[in-house]
Amino acid sequence: MRIRLITNAIVLLLLTACSSTNDLRNNEQEKELKPLAQRAPNPTASLHRPFDFPLVLSGNFGELRANHFHSGIDFKTQGEIGKSIHCAYDGYVSQVSVSGGGYGRAIYVTHPEIGLTTVYAHIEKFATKIDSVVRAEQYRRETFAINLNLPADSILVSKGEIIALSGNSGHSFGPHLHMEVRDIETGDAIDPLPYFKSLLVDTDAPQALELALYPDKNIGSVNGRKSATYLSVSTEEQLQFNAWGMVYPAILANDYMTNTHNVYGVKYMSLKVDGVEVYKRTIDRFQFEATRAINTLVDYNDLNKKGTWYMYTRVPKSQPLGCMVETSLPNGAVNIEKERDYKCEFVLLDEYGNKSVVPFVIHGVKQEIKPVMAAGKLIKYNDEDTIKRDGIELRFFKNVLYEDSHIPVSSREDSKYYSHIYSIGDNAIPLGRTYRIAIDIKNDIVKDKRKYQIIRVGKNSNRAYKSLYKNGQVIAYVDRFGDFTVTIDDKSPQLVPVNPNKWGEVGKITYRISDNLSGIKHYRGEIDGKWVMFEADTKNSIITYKLDSEEVKRGQSHEVKLFSVDECCNESVITNKFYW
Ligand SMILES: [Zn+2]
Repeated sequence: MRIRLITNAIVLLLLTACSSTNDLRNNEQEKELKPLAQRAPNPTASLHRPFDFPLVLSGNFGELRANHFHSGIDFKTQGEIGKSIHCAYDGYVSQVSVSGGGYGRAIYVTHPEIGLTTVYAHIEKFATKIDSVVRAEQYRRETFAINLNLPADSILVSKGEIIALSGNSGHSFGPHLHMEVRDIETGDAIDPLPYFKSLLVDTDAPQALELALYPDKNIGSVNGRKSATYLSVSTEEQLQFNAWGMVYPAILANDYMTNTHNVYGVKYMSLKVDGVEVYKRTIDRFQFEATRAINTLVDYNDLNKKGTWYMYTRVPKSQPLGCMVETSLPNGAVNIEKERDYKCEFVLLDEYGNKSVVPFVIHGVKQEIKPVMAAGKLIKYNDEDTIKRDGIELRFFKNVLYEDSHIPVSSREDSKYYSHIYSIGDNAIPLGRTYRIAIDIKNDIVKDKRKYQIIRVGKNSNRAYKSLYKNGQVIAYVDRFGDFTVTIDDKSPQLVPVNPNKWGEVGKITYRISDNLSGIKHYRGEIDGKWVMFEADTKNSIITYKLDSEEVKRGQSHEVKLFSVDECCNESVITNKFYW
């Protein structure tokens, strides 16, 4: 849910242009990937610790997460909010953002002297000199959610200065500080751990849970099959596979640290075959534009089906993570071409040099390679192309795909919806960016065309994509394959007052705010006809205003008016009375 606050007059303007074409078209522009610099610009810079108490992490850099690498490290805050956060180095506040989701309240401090920017997220409260700048702008724009870029001379900070109190704001599910280190020049995310390494303790090595061996389509076979074989690493027996042709070894593993029960991502992994290192991966730096390519480091099919992160050695043709991954193997595949034993081992390593080695054997055993049928049009990853069929048009841009792939499209009837349901592509194929879908409406009977909505039909719930109606078609840019169709969202956002008879007593006004499908686009709260700042907490679908006697007169009755509109231009208004 994206929340923006605006005045009623602007809402009216936006309603007429709800979902503009330009908004959607941004998806067609390709973001260029720059070559990744090898190391941090200033690996020996001495950064001030963020907290005075002993530092413990609940998350490390590069952890594998849904469609992104974890871009920083998470410091635990002793289970509490309100801990003083010290600035890492001299510099200036270059950006401040406030949102009900994402980073919540976040501060970006640029340190020109060392070429780094540090980021502090999920903050509870900004230090006064930052807060006063942010609040002034929130009131000027009448908005809670804000993203301010500040000039170098606006807010200066020094190393060790307290710049905020830690919290749990935004997309955070427990008090902690998410801290990032970025390269000023490229904007790349850099592993912050090396800067704080001496302040933490870690004697625990990464541990493997399972091994897997994946055959390559039509040119490999594992244990007589065209699908993967999985082995549990905990067994006493030797880990072994029978295979022939091109195969990809994979490992399911976690890292651990001393004195915590948390589970972390594995920073460094390599594969040796017959004593020679043939593949290595180091997650110490990445470009934000390439973060989705995390889906190419693992078997994406298993990730979707089982939620497991089997890190395999396969490298797609486009090599989207070129500097993170190095291999001497063709596409990362081991060629089992002789009837002999191939002695292999995975090596897992953390920042502190704690290491584990997982040996296994691939027996070269000749076996029939069972063919996998390819259906659908072949789309090249580095070309633009279109698939047109009865009732649907798909437009692929460069680098939507990571490698050349056959994209099947089929359709079926379902009277619930306003078009057929189209099955597009194969769920096992990860996508680097969005492609364009245009679906014909079967029976264009809905009067207000803004209500039409493209959805991805899921097993348990449907996902809505920002959609645009044009000449009997609905258009959206989508980032996945799957089943797509057209439905409508004609339901207004739900606004529910939470304990309104207690508002005066607790000095706080709270509403639950939610939408059935397309999502909340804006909300605006007023008391006695004047805008007040409701703070959003997206994870709990709640907005709150703390009563302030400078804004609301004490000792009388008041009226709250809350307005909200969703992405399909359905509006809601609610008014409530209270005494304070
Ligand atoms: Zn984090």
